[in-house]
Amino acid sequence: MVITRFAPSPTGYLHIGGARTALYCWLYAKKTQGKFILRIEDTDLERSTQESVQAILDAMDWLKLNYDEGPYYQTKRFDRYREVAEQLLKEGKAYRCYCSKERLEKLREEQTARKEKPRYDGFCRHRTEPGEGPFVIRFKNPEEGVVEFDDLIRGKLTFSNTELDDLIIARSDGTPTYNFTVVVDDWDMKITHVIRGDDHINNTPRQINILRALGATPPQYAHVSMILGSDGKRLSKRHGAVGVMQYREEGFLPEALLNYLVRLGWSYGDQEIFSMDELIKLFDIKGINKAPAAFNPEKLTWLNQHYIKTSDPERVAAELKWHMDKLGVDLSKGPALVEIVKAQAERAKTLKEMAEKSKIFYEDIKYNDEAVQKNITADVLPALSEIREGFSALKDWNKEAIHGVVVTVAEKLGLKLGKVAQPLRVATTGDTISPPIDVTLELLGREKVLARLSNKFS
Ligand code: GLU
Repeated sequence: MVITRFAPSPTGYLHIGGARTALYCWLYAKKTQGKFILRIEDTDLERSTQESVQAILDAMDWLKLNYDEGPYYQTKRFDRYREVAEQLLKEGKAYRCYCSKERLEKLREEQTARKEKPRYDGFCRHRTEPGEGPFVIRFKNPEEGVVEFDDLIRGKLTFSNTELDDLIIARSDGTPTYNFTVVVDDWDMKITHVIRGDDHINNTPRQINILRALGATPPQYAHVSMILGSDGKRLSKRHGAVGVMQYREEGFLPEALLNYLVRLGWSYGDQEIFSMDELIKLFDIKGINKAPAAFNPEKLTWLNQHYIKTSDPERVAAELKWHMDKLGVDLSKGPALVEIVKAQAERAKTLKEMAEKSKIFYEDIKYNDEAVQKNITADVLPALSEIREGFSALKDWNKEAIHGVVVTVAEKLGLKLGKVAQPLRVATTGDTISPPIDVTLELLGREKVLARLSNKFS
């Protein structure tokens, strides 16, 4: 059975590169009817925060990347890491290193002066006398030969063991180091496919050596290229939003972001739009590109509009509610949100924009003075007042009846429909842009419409 894992370090929000990795792991597990595990790599006690953990969980939740197991926390597994380190010591596959900071510093200086890559020289590996004082535990990396693996994206990769020194697996205070915890976890959790960022490529041969020393079969690896900004540099805050939840705040639907992310580095012909079910069927690690992908905000916005227009309005409404709540809008004071979505879907690029444009259905409005002056001129006031009367006399409040009143009054006063509709829009919404006037008024409800038409505009 395929088992994948997403293993973020909680040292900040979940950024979109991480979300893409998580998505690939999730999709591959779903596709193969395997398992997807979430593991929080929080051993860097100084940089990990509870807030970041929460931000990661929230983002996974929002994206609906549900996990079959976890979240596991590495900080809760220290006993296990200690146990495995002891086992390696006992089997002679690791050793205690008593080298002082000073010695290591001197070694580094000498190596740098000789233009060599700084690396541990194995002094304690070969020591015959027992050492004294504080020690770290180092893994006995093979001294010769190569580590080779078939990266599922990059093909065969070969590293020479002479390039790798004896990695510290436990610090002098007994805490495990990063590469070691990953190995123990991948082994214990029976991970079959490690899909992760290519910034980890150089860790892989080290991890494979430790896994082999433990008698484990290394998983398969797939190293995904980084995401670049539009200027070709590594995507960072300079390029705008990089946190997943920032995209929520900016009004993107999770399905749009996921669709965007999956295509950023993976393709299936020229197809741009994929439902989740389709992705589960079509996704394959083989389709992931080796070359880095460039982030394109316009494409994301285009996808967002597509999903706003085509998704089930109930679904969009649920997400819109989050934005309305954030604006502090009391939703009991107006129509059902799903009706708002149906009326506004064609008109908004983001849900943030939709929420802002929809406050008028729930709250008192502020008039745009310029729009009032330009549109509600003295010659249309009689029409507005007749329309108001017509509205209050209506039996049923629906868009057909509303339309009927507007047409009748316009005809009676010899005015073109547009000449009446726009002043009516400004009078009832405060500005010149809204869904079709009959739809807008139906949604506003009779009470608000009559009250707003009673305002004195001159
Ligand atoms: N914790 C690592 C990171 O956030 C990922 C490690 C891995 O996937 O092996 O970069």
